[in-house]
Order: sequence, then C-alpha cells, then structure tokens
Amino acid sequence: MKLILAGNWKNYPESPEEAINLLSALARRAKIFKKLSTFIIPPAVYLGSAAKKIKSFAYLGSQDVFFSGDSTVTGAVTADMLRNLGAKAVIIGHSERRRLGETNQVVSEKVKTALKSGLIPIVCVGEEVHDSEGNYFELLNEQIRSSLEGVRRKDDAHKIIVAYEPVWAIGRRAKEAMQPTELSQMVIYIKKVLTEVFGRDSAGRMPILYGGSVEPSNAKDLVTSTGIKGFLVGHASLEAKSFGEIAQALLK
Ligand code: PEP
Repeated sequence: MKLILAGNWKNYPESPEEAINLLSALARRAKIFKKLSTFIIPPAVYLGSAAKKIKSFAYLGSQDVFFSGDSTVTGAVTADMLRNLGAKAVIIGHSERRRLGETNQVVSEKVKTALKSGLIPIVCVGEEVHDSEGNYFELLNEQIRSSLEGVRRKDDAHKIIVAYEPVWAIGRRAKEAMQPTELSQMVIYIKKVLTEVFGRDSAGRMPILYGGSVEPSNAKDLVTSTGIKGFLVGHASLEAKSFGEIAQALLK
C-alpha cells in the first residue's frame, strides 16, 4: 500500500488566481505525488477547479461535509455532491471545527454519511494538551470510540483513515511538532484502541496519519519507525515546493 500524503489548505489562498497558481505548481511535481496516495484538500470554493487540475496525480478531498444526506438545509454541502464532483475523501472532525462546537456525536454522523456516499473519511483525533499525568490517553480513547461510533466493524471500518493531530502541535514550526519517540507511543495506543473497537483485521487496515507542523525538515524523522502511514499537512501544503519535499521524505 502506498503511503498517504494529504494537504489541508484550510481557508487559503484568498483568491481563485492564487489557487490556480498553486494547483499548477503542484501539477509540475506530478511525478513525485503519483508515487504516493496524495490528497489535495482545498476550500470548498476551489473544489471544482482542483478536480480538473489534479486528476492525473492526486485525489480530491473536502475539508468538511454536511452530517445528513437527506435533509434540505441552506448552505449545506452534502457527501453526494462532493462525490459527484469527484471527491474521494473528506476530513471530518478537524480540531479547528471541533473548536467551533463540532461534537464527537456530530463527527460520527458525518463519518457514516460520508461512508454511505463512498467517500473516505479522514477522521481527526488528538489531545488539546499533552499533560504530564498522561490524561490525554483517556481523552483520545473516548474521542476515537465516540467519533467512530456506529461504524460497521467488517464492512466499513477499514475504509477509514485516522489522522492523529495533537492540537498543541498544529500550526507551529517543525521543532515544535511531536517528537518521533512520542509519536511511536501514540500510534501504538491508537492501534490498541482501534483493535478493541474493530478487531485486529479491520484495525490493521486503518492507516494512521500524523498531522501537526509537518515540514520538509522533520518529515523524514516523523515517518521513520513511528508506525504512521503518512501525513496530514496544513501550512506546508500551501507551497508546492515544501509539499513536494515532504512527499520526497515519505519516499526515502
Ligand atoms: C492541520 O491543520 O491539519 C495541520 C496539520 O496543520 P499544520 O501542518 O499547519 O500544523
């Protein structure tokens, strides 16, 4: 299985022209992105242009999805709409959305809605604080179980990608990211929880990504012997050069 590289553009760039320039710069590095399962995840307003531009070298992802597939709600972007536009995956439960009030229960509804429409949910989990007493283990345990509540063990669990994103490490510089030794421990713990919930077979097929200040300078260390299957990258995905260098680090 190819390693995964997902670029979450968040709410950037600010104009369609800049978005097109970024997509073109990424396309010039198509060869390297093709060697991975690369996901480009722009803001909703650029999904249409991105769908055409990245087809040959990356999958399209959405940053969010409406939790229901069958109600009429102004402003909602449904899973079927995303799928029909060519999206393959959707980020669900990003900490920046959880901060706006998205609960584990809403996350689990979105996960089930996405699965029903054939989208791969990239489900974000991660502690706000890495406290010295280790309380974050219990928080993570609860977050994983509740966010994935109701997911069918045999039929659906293996279609999910888990993105472990410690909130304290997001949007900083490489040296403030989680250290590889700590990341290895967290991956073991997440695998243990997933195995308890979904059984060894399904859990073993659920890739775990790391996200939180991944940059070209720390990418190689973070992927070497930590058990992760790739990255969810925020700010460094907004520059084709750094995103390409992270791809290279994954392939080394
Ligand atoms: C993110 O927002 O998912 C993220 C990982 O951001 P950054 O890489 O900027 O920390």
